Amino acid sequence: MQFSASLVWFRRDLRPFDHAALHHALATSRVVYCGFIFDNAILASLPRNDRRVAFIHRSVAALDRELGALGGCLLVRQGDAAEALPRLAAELGVEAVFTNEDYEPYAIARDTAVAQALHADGRRFLSYKDQVVFDGNEVLTQGGKPFSVFTPYKKAWLRRLDAEPWSVDLLDTAVNAARLATRPAGHRLPSLEDTGFRADAPLPAGLVPGPEGAAQAFDRFLDRIGDYAQARDFPALEGTSGLSVHLRFGTTSVRHLVRSARELIARGIGVEGARSWLSELIWREFYQAILLHHPQVVGHAFKPAYDAIRWETGPEADALFAAWCEGRTGYPLVDAAMAQLNQTGFMHNRLRMVTASFLTKDLGIDWRRGERYFALQLNDYELASNNGGWQWAASTGCDAQPWFRIFNPVTQSERFDPDGQFIRRYLPALRALDAKQIHAPWTARTPVGDYPERIVVHEEARQKTLERYDAIKQQGPGQA
Ligand code: FAD
Repeated sequence: MQFSASLVWFRRDLRPFDHAALHHALATSRVVYCGFIFDNAILASLPRNDRRVAFIHRSVAALDRELGALGGCLLVRQGDAAEALPRLAAELGVEAVFTNEDYEPYAIARDTAVAQALHADGRRFLSYKDQVVFDGNEVLTQGGKPFSVFTPYKKAWLRRLDAEPWSVDLLDTAVNAARLATRPAGHRLPSLEDTGFRADAPLPAGLVPGPEGAAQAFDRFLDRIGDYAQARDFPALEGTSGLSVHLRFGTTSVRHLVRSARELIARGIGVEGARSWLSELIWREFYQAILLHHPQVVGHAFKPAYDAIRWETGPEADALFAAWCEGRTGYPLVDAAMAQLNQTGFMHNRLRMVTASFLTKDLGIDWRRGERYFALQLNDYELASNNGGWQWAASTGCDAQPWFRIFNPVTQSERFDPDGQFIRRYLPALRALDAKQIHAPWTARTPVGDYPERIVVHEEARQKTLERYDAIKQQGPGQA
């Protein structure tokens, strides 16, 4: 036994099951405390009814209950993590703090500060890979360089997993659970109000926080994973897993998800769907690797030449941006998608592509404005995936949609919501339109209530966008 007492610092890994830091702490320490800090440095800028904070708060309570069932508990504090965590470690008198790696620039800076403070006090800071199966330095080209194209990255990722199947082995936390520090007398978690937030932004129906919620969502998804490849593009269907928020806050384990998908493939069950879904989990790691190796993508185009694009600015552009945010563009699929985002904090992947393309290529507005809006609204907001998705749609990113390929919001609607079922769910004003007119209400002979006129004509906007991007191409070969 290496340590007489240690602390596991939970952050975006709110589960006790298959948890790298907890597993290693329990294996090497006589007594293991568990802690969580509501980090003021993150919370300060969020609206007081932020849905993500409500999700985290309920997941923290669920984690405390699950640790309780194992004989432990979760100690919860609030403050700037860089100060509050070393203070908690000192209060408990632990020799080491165990945690799981976080790859976002803010988290890296915070962890460096925490590690320094702990070291100054004579304590160890130990961090483990948990958020991904392979981190940005583990899947490289044969020349040892990071990939910037997805397909060869995915092949290399799958080759590595075949060579090292133990990478997704369960990291058991039950076997040494007796080492968890027991619940102190008077142990109580702060309420959401205690943390300075309000509980009036309800989570979307069906979204259950905590590890239990993740397990339920995954169980339901396993029944339909075989259909994933066909169903995943249709927003009216429950075709995808809905697990992104659980991956974001670690209420599920990515090793567990990958392990399960591989087992299905090996047993010949739902193979096409499971393979296609595994690919999406690999996209998530691809974008994390891009962020790690190219941190300049935060705020800049992956392809530097595209930073010179002349986006629309000024009051007219601001009005168009507001109409997009509020779902008043007059293009039903775009507006229904924005209503889904604004009402629930979730948006279907196909619709993220359609709305991002519409903002950048129909309205000519800088992708960074849309990226920021999504960052505020999405329950599953991940810097790496959001940035990657926006740069893909705006054609400024690595392995992105070619700049001359511009989604037509009407044909996307006809293809992926053929009966208008999704549109009707979010836009009651259009419910009476038939399955043809609902994609382009300006063609309807029946009145459509107070539904807005389209704010741009796609065919004209498309032409402008081709010119906008073409100007960049003219600036010099090889740059764009
Ligand atoms: P499923 O289809 O069940 O996929 C399983 C998991 O794979 C997801 O939970 C997610 O972790 C991962 N995944 C799926 N698609 C992608 C993708 N294209 N890129 C990276 N990872 C993926 N995803 C986020 O998790 N957070 C974001 O902030 C985010 N912003 C996006 C912004 C734009 C403009 C675009 C085009 C995509 C964005 N995505 C983001 C990716 C994707 O839309 C969501 O992961 C997906 O819709 C979540 O639903 P799901 O869990 O049902 O997905």
